[in-house]
Amino acid sequence: MHKSAQGSPFCLLLTGTGTDVGKTVTTAALLRSLLDLGAKAMAVKIVQTGVEASDCGKTTASDSYQYLLASKGADFPTAHCLHSFPLPVSPHLAAAQVGVKLSAKKLACDIQTFVQAQSDYDVLLFETAGGLHVPLSEQEDWLHLLSYLHFPVVLCAANCLGAINHTLLSLDALRYAAAHVSALVFSETGSSQDDCERTLRADNINLLRSRFPSLAVYPLPYTEKREERFARLAQALAPLARNLLAAKPKNATSDLISRDRASLWHPYSPARDNAPLSAVSFSHHNRLVLSDGRELIDGMSSWWCAVHGYRHPHLESALHAQLTRLPHVMFGGLTHEGAITLAERLKSMLPRALSRVFLADSGSVAVEVAMKMALQYQYGLGNKEKTRFLTPLGGYHGDTLGAMSVCDPINGMHSLFSGCLARQIFMPRPSCRFDEPFDPQSLDAARQIFAERGEEICAVILEPIVQGAGGMWFYHPDYLKGLADLCKASGALLIFDEIATGFGHTGKLFALQWADLTPDILCLGKALTGGTMTLAATLCTDKVQDGICANGQVFMHGPTFMANPLACAVANASLDLLASGAWQSQVLAIENVLRQELAGCQSLPNVADVRVLGDIGVVETRSAVDTCTLTRFFTEHGVWIRPFNNLVYLMPPYISPLEDVARLCHTIYEALASTGTGASPSH
Ligand code: PMP
Repeated sequence: MHKSAQGSPFCLLLTGTGTDVGKTVTTAALLRSLLDLGAKAMAVKIVQTGVEASDCGKTTASDSYQYLLASKGADFPTAHCLHSFPLPVSPHLAAAQVGVKLSAKKLACDIQTFVQAQSDYDVLLFETAGGLHVPLSEQEDWLHLLSYLHFPVVLCAANCLGAINHTLLSLDALRYAAAHVSALVFSETGSSQDDCERTLRADNINLLRSRFPSLAVYPLPYTEKREERFARLAQALAPLARNLLAAKPKNATSDLISRDRASLWHPYSPARDNAPLSAVSFSHHNRLVLSDGRELIDGMSSWWCAVHGYRHPHLESALHAQLTRLPHVMFGGLTHEGAITLAERLKSMLPRALSRVFLADSGSVAVEVAMKMALQYQYGLGNKEKTRFLTPLGGYHGDTLGAMSVCDPINGMHSLFSGCLARQIFMPRPSCRFDEPFDPQSLDAARQIFAERGEEICAVILEPIVQGAGGMWFYHPDYLKGLADLCKASGALLIFDEIATGFGHTGKLFALQWADLTPDILCLGKALTGGTMTLAATLCTDKVQDGICANGQVFMHGPTFMANPLACAVANASLDLLASGAWQSQVLAIENVLRQELAGCQSLPNVADVRVLGDIGVVETRSAVDTCTLTRFFTEHGVWIRPFNNLVYLMPPYISPLEDVARLCHTIYEALASTGTGASPSH
């Protein structure tokens, strides 16, 4: 007998194009069919209305009663009802009448708990109440529940006049929700000798089969004789039942991990890697759901990106609308509204002098573009000797060769390539902390380098205020002001890489606002699309574009996926969310929790420093942490935190509930206190 992976039953959701379309009969018949094939199956009504809880399964008004009728003779439970309410109306009203507040999430949890308790079953059939948009609460309907569960779906429809319209609309909704539709069951809801009706029914089936050749469509005949009913219907659904039983389990976690290990590289990893790896099957809000059903609180915003959380409906619908119009088009000689609007909006959010926008396809490419802009600017001005970039140690700007050349050469990830990278000029990391009075001496090294090698320096490139992947170091805004003056005096350009800091992470929309400065060139990326697609932007001033284009020159860059319309659409949607302004109080509230709840880590013996700015919380340890041990600890404790070297850090999505932020902090404390990485706790 087939069995799903890890002893978990195969779960299917049965829903309909409306009420009274044959959903319960289909569920009961499919149950019978599965039982006839020897499977251990159960049908579950998720929410039953119009029936007292105590009557559920006993009265003909309850769907579980039909399941019991269909499965007569089985020697194990075959019918169940999760929630039952007496009022015969939609679930949200029926529940409200007895003081219960339903939510898609709560129902999804109930279902998952129920599934876990039925590990000896082969198949569980879950029947909804009514169609996909029937409300479960004021804001949610069955589609929301489906997006939490990700069960494959059987759509039930009544084969009658009007069926095509309802069926196509329901299939559209399911496709939009990324649901996997296993089958369409088309029930005859009455007997008809009428030729016209017979023709209509046959045409409905043919039309759906021809529009969706890969969708299995099962006609379910009408039967009057009660006693024969389920046996006959079960026969009609036997091929579907067989397919379900033969279906390869979709949630075989260990299988996914071994397939991954056989074929894929992961960031900064050996080819044959045995480090802990989790498969994510689904994400929502500030949660990542693993393929084994575990849900993790996200502390990383997927490396600074997912600031609005995952699968925000505004971002999803922008993406979907764009997909149906213009997913991609080359940007040479062509343009589109999404790119134009995005450029205008970015300009309106930034200092006025940043007047031209180059839309690149990733952060590293945006940095390459910025470096090329600076070099072409200096060439344009005839400054042929100005070819080197000056940058502080501890910086990180990406993984392509040009970007690597300005990453920290010693501590950075690219020391391996130092022999073949362009030789740049490095100065000490800004020593003045963000949260201490500015020390003008911290600019001495820069001053000296400009005095000695100023004529070689094409541009200074650095991450303003927060050095990210190179050490999560926060430094004083006045350092940037001093550097800007030095650049101006020597004719070097100033490039700010705000790929990580942009769009609110530091508590300001852009980190440059802390210093009230306008760089000559600015790189943006990561949260630009709210973490949904890859897109980056490099902006420059009139001065830079005029220098580049002096003597009729063109700017020499043009990626294939430049200004990808899908990415532009979702970036515009993300800017809508930021424009609402909620991010500011959210980041401030997260900052307060991080300050309060991470403070305790300071007393751990292996902790060197704890610092917080905006939604960025950093615990720096004295010696490097064991990433594998800590990652395992974190996932086992229900959080997603990815430490590196001597840094355990957080940048939770702005929409994170504050109790989740506190839990992230406490888990870091527990991990550092108990795994040996942080030695013993002192409080
Ligand atoms: N610059 C900074 C400051 C970054 O943090 C990163 C990514 N970590 C990059 C550039 C490179 O961006 P991407 O990974 O999108 O190429």
